[in-house]
Amino acid sequence: MTVNVLAEDDFADLLGDAPAWQERALCSQTDPEAFFPEKGGSVTEAKRICRLCEVEAECLEYALANNERFGIWGGTTERERRRLKRRVA
Ligand code: SF4
Repeated sequence: MTVNVLAEDDFADLLGDAPAWQERALCSQTDPEAFFPEKGGSVTEAKRICRLCEVEAECLEYALANNERFGIWGGTTERERRRLKRRVA
């Protein structure tokens, strides 16, 4: 009998749940509205929290891979992520 072992992120994908790194997301312990400001709203506080977050790189990678269009992810705004994607394209 063969037993396949899946990584935590694989399970999350199969179940449609959040990836495992999100359990360590600093924003989950703060005001989520700061990460989805109204148009023209400040992103300063969200970006400050991202700089302290231990999963900033994973978060940004996820946002780029999944074309997250709204909110602050991995310390970047939508516009900054679009710029990053154009640079690597
Ligand atoms: S990098 Fe920012 S948006 Fe991403 S998990 Fe950390 S605090 Fe949240």
